Amino acid sequence: MKTVVFIQKIGEVDTSILIRLKKNLSWLFKKFALKVEIIPNAYSIQGDEYLEAERHYDGELILNRLENNFKSTIKNKLLGIIDADIKGIRKIHLFGLSNLRSSCALISIDRLRGSFCNGYEDQALFELRILKEATHELGHTFGLDHCTNECVMKYSNNLEDVDKKPKDFCQVCFQALKKSIKTRN
Ligand SMILES: [Zn+2]
Ligand SMILES: [Zn+2]
Repeated sequence: MKTVVFIQKIGEVDTSILIRLKKNLSWLFKKFALKVEIIPNAYSIQGDEYLEAERHYDGELILNRLENNFKSTIKNKLLGIIDADIKGIRKIHLFGLSNLRSSCALISIDRLRGSFCNGYEDQALFELRILKEATHELGHTFGLDHCTNECVMKYSNNLEDVDKKPKDFCQVCFQALKKSIKTRN
């Protein structure tokens, strides 16, 4: 049985974005025989996950809840996607978060929209950024750490870093990922 990556929208996320991400991830992970599926129902935000005074979501809390709710085999993965600001433990804004070798990851697409280099919203660039961050966080769930090569696993501090890194894995990460998925199957 193939490993499946489930895409779980959290609150409202534009359907066209989910469909596009599914297509892009399917293409990228085809070499690893991974299947990508969209979960039709949205995960609804729970009261304490939104910090009203600070106007952002608690990424850690959402990630932990996803992890607890996701009652699937360990080899499957779940990628939560939220169109709002999230912060992590250190109270900084995040594009995404995940735990190493866990089954869930979370990305926030809200800040991936901002400051397009040509001044107006560039849908293709927005989708590319989403793909890079989704791939990066999923990479962590398969045990990949940050990488200093020209690689999607490079750490991104800001949008410029996201735009600079490629959407693909370097050879080292590619082999590690292949091995990690193979051991699971
Ligand atoms: Zn990372
Ligand atoms: Zn790498």
